[in-house]
Amino acid sequence: MIVSSKGIILKIFPYSNTSIICNVFTETYGKITLISKGVRKPKNPQLSILQPFHLLDLTFYYKKNRSMHILKEADITSDFSHLREDLSSIVFGSAINNIINRIFEEDFPNEVIFRLCTKSLDLLSKNLRNNKVIFIFFLYHLSKQLGFMPSYKSCNSCNQKFKNDAIFSSSLNALICDQCIIHQSMDLDFVIKFLTLQKIDLVNKTHINQIFEVDLSKDNLSELFNFLIAFMNSNINHMLKVNSIKEVTKFYHERN
Ligand SMILES: [Zn+2]
Repeated sequence: MIVSSKGIILKIFPYSNTSIICNVFTETYGKITLISKGVRKPKNPQLSILQPFHLLDLTFYYKKNRSMHILKEADITSDFSHLREDLSSIVFGSAINNIINRIFEEDFPNEVIFRLCTKSLDLLSKNLRNNKVIFIFFLYHLSKQLGFMPSYKSCNSCNQKFKNDAIFSSSLNALICDQCIIHQSMDLDFVIKFLTLQKIDLVNKTHINQIFEVDLSKDNLSELFNFLIAFMNSNINHMLKVNSIKEVTKFYHERN
């Protein structure tokens, strides 16, 4: 049947002599694979539309459980054009696309996560200096929407409310207090300062339009990033295979 949906192009690759295949995150059908036939013939205007990051209105021939669907029409809604003007924004935007492409199976729609993605790409294209904050917000709310809400108010071992710095326990995949760590210390454990724990609560409660009002220092951002990535790597299938996380990591650990 012929259907329509908004969709973000995650990745494209050439197919046969004239076609391309697109991995697309659609609002209504989840992640799908579309083939655009003949698009690489000379002067075909659709090739410039079918580019990563673009938010499109798509019409396609859809059949459930089929691995590929045929694209009929694509119109551009937003190209997030400023995102391409800044190298760090491209790195963060690519990481968002790669995470969605890796962790989602085909045909699992999630409109909340779709809106989270489009809003995050939109913010990345408009707030080029705040992309570390935007990405933290994206990671946290992606994990929460997938059902993996990190517990940050009390120790996962003794249940006492945190009053001091916490430790991310790699063996428990959770935050524990400084009393419990004495018995359970591992090489991969790391500290999350008490101030950063309080900031997690703000990231949780703040609407995405107000995230720049949350005061996050360089240390807060780096600790939050380490925590969210470690937490998501253990909970979310295929998260470890997202190669572009390595590129993003450099931005959180840079010294200047
Ligand atoms: Zn404890």
